[in-house]
Amino acid sequence: MPHHSTKKRIFLSAPHMSGNEQKYVKQAFNTNWIAPLGPNVDAFEKELSAYVGASEGVALSSGTAAIHLALSLLGVGKGDIVFCSSLTFVASANPILYQGAEPVFIDSEPDTWNMSLQALEKAFKVAALNGKLPKAVIVVNLYGQSAKMDEILAICNGYNVPIIEDAAESLGSSYKGKASGTFGKFGIYSFNGNKIITTSGGGMLVSEDTEAINKARFLSTQARDEAIHYQHSQMGYNYRMSNILAGVGRGQLEVLEQRVMEKRDVFNFYYEELAELPGLNFMPELEGTYTNRWLTALTIEEKVTGVSANTLIEALAEENIEARPVWKPLHLQPLFQDAAYFSHEKDYSVSEALFNSGICLPSGTNMTKADQLRVISCIKSVLIINQPYVISG
Ligand SMILES: *Cc1c(COP(=O)(O)O)cnc(C)c1O
Repeated sequence: MPHHSTKKRIFLSAPHMSGNEQKYVKQAFNTNWIAPLGPNVDAFEKELSAYVGASEGVALSSGTAAIHLALSLLGVGKGDIVFCSSLTFVASANPILYQGAEPVFIDSEPDTWNMSLQALEKAFKVAALNGKLPKAVIVVNLYGQSAKMDEILAICNGYNVPIIEDAAESLGSSYKGKASGTFGKFGIYSFNGNKIITTSGGGMLVSEDTEAINKARFLSTQARDEAIHYQHSQMGYNYRMSNILAGVGRGQLEVLEQRVMEKRDVFNFYYEELAELPGLNFMPELEGTYTNRWLTALTIEEKVTGVSANTLIEALAEENIEARPVWKPLHLQPLFQDAAYFSHEKDYSVSEALFNSGICLPSGTNMTKADQLRVISCIKSVLIINQPYVISG
């Protein structure tokens, strides 16, 4: 057997340029707009906001910065409580800590792998009994799939608590025909290198509240007061996106729709080839939603296949194929060991079950069919070799 390093590496989700990015970057160079402001930044904000149907957007250095500013604008501070989906990347919750607030983690539910309605209701009841409601709820749309936004909004509105929709993974997805990221008081997107479109690093905060977005723009540029000299009456941040990177973003946005279709094709090909195998269950797409399928995710029932998710990930790694476990729930992270957690059922945590059996397959839009077949045949060979029961007459 050849050593794995001799085979071409297949990445989980590599950047995929369209070619037009360089046109906008070149414009920035030609006009010497090499700064964290400029025509590409303004245009990228307008173009992305128009695409998702939000009134306003501010381009930032990361999705994390966008969540941080959203919390700051909602007045989240020391000792406050913020509810947050547990099954997500740590960036969803780190900004809660930046503000000195306390995260309370909410489990997932099986239909969407996103925030559980019953766990959220339970958390609100307990918070109300304790006389301390959360200042905000951060709802994550995992791997492109929208959470049950109508129901979640109804619960949160009932307590008058605003939502920050973490749509870092779901740009290009929709829920009942409306763009993912436009349901909460604030929505955030990420353009990190592995996201569906990228600026190499960047983010966007969107809202219907023009005043709030203007405030975010102010805070993201060191909160400089209007004066000829440098005057500051508030603490600010250096969170603005550069005009060069916004140029990359403009080129990427032009192909977003195409990327969504390509991601969905990747998912569909895996599904056609693997869904019939016993013990494999693909992440569902909730009726009335359209997911960008940022990553193809599925679970493996070890009892049925004789193979754990980790064993499969290791077997793929041997073939120089990058697959990953599903996010480790944040309530299980040492960083958040003191945080409260509300599970979907009293004795059943959906996010933990998904973590224990879940796997994300390479889902890059620049993967070839042959690359994908390499992934598929590796999975098939591992599963078939390890069938625990030989079925006989
Ligand atoms: C990527 C990601 C973020 C953070 O975005 P950055 O741009 O990397 O800061 C936040 N939330 C989720 C769910 C993500 O996947």
